[in-house]
Amino acid sequence: MAALPLLCAAGPVLDLPQYPEIDRVALERYATRTLTRREGQARAAGELGCVRYCAMIERAFARVAAAARAQGELPGGPVQWQLVVTTTRGEAALSLPGGHVLVSEDMISELRLSEAELAFIIAHESGHLLLQHEAQALDFLQATLLPRGLRRSVWDLYAELDYNAGALLRLQSLMQQSELDADYAGLLLGAQAGYPPAAMASALSKIAASEQQRAGIVQTHPAMAQRLAHIGRAMPMAERLHEVTMARH
Ligand SMILES: [Zn+2]
Repeated sequence: MAALPLLCAAGPVLDLPQYPEIDRVALERYATRTLTRREGQARAAGELGCVRYCAMIERAFARVAAAARAQGELPGGPVQWQLVVTTTRGEAALSLPGGHVLVSEDMISELRLSEAELAFIIAHESGHLLLQHEAQALDFLQATLLPRGLRRSVWDLYAELDYNAGALLRLQSLMQQSELDADYAGLLLGAQAGYPPAAMASALSKIAASEQQRAGIVQTHPAMAQRLAHIGRAMPMAERLHEVTMARH
């Protein structure tokens, strides 16, 4: 087997893409509106904020956010990383353009997550943000809508996603690929944050075991077997990155 090249663990390992056609300010404003609504619901239900796992969540988020910052700035300025914790039953984790990562403590208890597994889930969400998957999807949508060449606002593009099932269907394979890319980015970010890759990857098996088969019209997530195989291929790189990171401390 060929030796892996030497890695500089403190430097970036992800290539950050650009989507100049998509207005980042409008995208983040839309995300803030969504988050504010969700936070309001959680607050009204007494489900906002951590209760059981505060130290673990804060430590995992701080370490992953530091690794994410080391990847460089997005066009238009740095990401303002912020964590929102809920105790809402059935809620898992999500990220919103602008740097918000939401985590539910219910997911941690339900899946009995270790800190490394939680870090992987936070890093996967951070991967979506760094790789700008929301902007990528809107950019793709913009290019496929008729009439061609008509520039639509972020609000119009979201309206298409709400009311145009065909548009959503065209995005299906892009969204599935985004999940694989976020797993890959998450594994590398987590390794750079100091978490052992094998200890993180077990999060996927736990999710697979608990996942009920929810057959929606549009399958936004790839099959778990595909995610596990994909992450398996990224493992040697992540192991090496983790080794180099740990050697520096
Ligand atoms: Zn995802």
